[in-house]
Amino acid sequence: RSIIQLFDVSKQYGAGYALKNITLSVKVGDLVFITGASGAGKSTLLNLLYLATPVTRGQIIVGGMNLARLSPEKIPYLRRRIGVIFQDFKLISHRSVFDNISLVLEAAGQPPAVIKKKVEEVLERTGMTEYMNALPPSLSGGQQQKVAVARAVVGDPDIILADEPTGSLDACSAEVITRYLMEYKEKGTTILIASHNTALINSTGFDVLYTLEAGQLAQPGENICAAMNP
Ligand code: ADP
Ligand code: ADP
Repeated sequence: RSIIQLFDVSKQYGAGYALKNITLSVKVGDLVFITGASGAGKSTLLNLLYLATPVTRGQIIVGGMNLARLSPEKIPYLRRRIGVIFQDFKLISHRSVFDNISLVLEAAGQPPAVIKKKVEEVLERTGMTEYMNALPPSLSGGQQQKVAVARAVVGDPDIILADEPTGSLDACSAEVITRYLMEYKEKGTTILIASHNTALINSTGFDVLYTLEAGQLAQPGENICAAMNP
């Protein structure tokens, strides 16, 4: 069963193609890596999936929703099912760490007691409890990235989109955060990670690996290691 499908998707910025003729599908619960050089189109691919930007051509289906036909008032329903870890974090600088995370649950209409419990849990798991009242600009890049991860998972999304999710973390924190994300995979969450970090790719394993080359898809790689060590 597919949760994400792209049919002949192209994205143009001006005259140039960021993505060209991409067709792929992602199965429910899969961990998918998207790799490729800087500028290959990895971020653009993730951006299209939660309608940060529209496609130029082609069709995208996410969780049964045809994104081209999604009316503006339905976009929040799409985004509530997706947790995004942005490469530049995109935290709200004048709101506390706690508020940055709780906003996700408030938007989903969760009651205050549930919000408090869930936010405290993700803060604890990412090691950010002591910073819950801090404003993001006062934190290091690694700390901000942990908040971004906490915000992405707090709503128990069906899909997590992660752009270099450990790019600002030291090796130890990267391992803690990667293991945390893998717990969501165990629970059935579909995860797409854009990364050119081969250490990360090797440490988590994957179900499918896509390589982008100048906006085009190279042959998908099956996970040979998992097939050999079931
Ligand atoms: P990657 O994530 O693999 O580094 P990107 O998806 O960020 O690649 O970029 C792919 C190409 O699209 C690059 O040439 C980049 O400059 C271009 N691009 C991405 N976003 C925009 C944008 N908002 N406006 C114009 N060009 C863009
Ligand atoms: P990466 O390529 O590693 O994903 P970038 O720094 O290229 O990261 O992109 C960061 C943001 O800037 C993204 O939101 C992307 O859409 C935008 N962007 C990238 N390239 C361009 C560009 N040439 N013009 C305008 N915006 C861009």
